[in-house]
Amino acid sequence: MKPAPFRYAAAQSLEHALALKAEAGEEARFLAGGQSLIPAMNFRLAQPAMLIDLNPLDDLDYITVDNGALRIGARTRYSRVEHCAEVARWQPLLAEVLPNIAHPQIRNRGTLCGNLSNADPASELPAVMLAAGARMHAHSAGGDRWIAAADFFINLFETALQPDEMLVEIELPALPARSGTCFIEVARRPGDYAMAGVAASLTLDANGRCGSASIALCNAGPTPMAAAAAAQLLIGGVLDAEAIAAAAAQAQEEVEPNGNVHCTADYQRHLAGVLTRRALTSAAARARQGTSA
Ligand SMILES: Cc1cc2nc3c(=O)[nH]c(=O)nc-3n(C[C@H](O)[C@H](O)[C@H](O)COP(=O)(O)OP(=O)(O)OC[C@H]3O[C@@H](n4cnc5c(N)ncnc54)[C@H](O)[C@@H]3O)c2cc1C
Repeated sequence: MKPAPFRYAAAQSLEHALALKAEAGEEARFLAGGQSLIPAMNFRLAQPAMLIDLNPLDDLDYITVDNGALRIGARTRYSRVEHCAEVARWQPLLAEVLPNIAHPQIRNRGTLCGNLSNADPASELPAVMLAAGARMHAHSAGGDRWIAAADFFINLFETALQPDEMLVEIELPALPARSGTCFIEVARRPGDYAMAGVAASLTLDANGRCGSASIALCNAGPTPMAAAAAAQLLIGGVLDAEAIAAAAAQAQEEVEPNGNVHCTADYQRHLAGVLTRRALTSAAARARQGTSA
């Protein structure tokens, strides 16, 4: 199929892109990697009147690290992040998830900000942003604001971004000492969207007990699903098999999978429990070893 007719504008600067978006509003879409938008246009599931191409904006292609906190710009492609040694060192959860996203060809074009703006609940990345406590930096012609990942994903393919806003960068906070993280998923084939996936992050306190925990799942509801009650069960306790099994059982209760052509909702719920147990077990071992991932 071919897309419906649309106007095209190559952004000359961030300000230019934001001015075009302010003028066109919901009629216009930003074009980042095009790996979700162009197929949707070809199938005529999306029919924007205008595309504002972000690809000329080289100054938004960056990864910065400041005391372990990471910032990634809107034009930064998956592949750059995947092969960045600083990301592997400081944000191992992000490094671990990236090879699970699509195929190398798609990771050579796709961007993290495009993925997060697309807000596909089946995608791995929104769940990782929740588990990592990331923040999204939105800009419009009128100003800018930070949005916590927990407030960013509103519904299926819907974010807190306003029609005149662009996601300009994401920020992942530094992992505290004695932390361990893990991402794990089950997909039918490598590169497919997961039937379910879990991102977990644990930090031990000085006594070796669980000081903080976060768990988030993909393809488990209309948005990335935080298993907050499951994480809460772990706080203050020893991260042994019994505690982890209880948290995994709780996570199974918290998800709202819908099922799809590849698996039933019951199977996704089953996976949510099994994968949460495995992710927490790995994250706890990594926290104890001081290896993060
Ligand atoms: C065969 C195939 C397999 C895939 N498998 C997976 C997978 O396993 N897991 C996974 O997570 N994804 C998968 N994807 C999707 C891929 O990750 C996309 O790259 C990603 O979803 C979108 O990123 P993009 O940069 O290509 O965005 P685009 O397609 O360019 O844009 C997506 C949407 O976000 C908007 N947008 C883009 N950038 C911004 C911005 N900075 N601010 C505001 N809005 C913006 C666009 O207007 C559009 O509505 C797959 C894609 C294909 C084609």
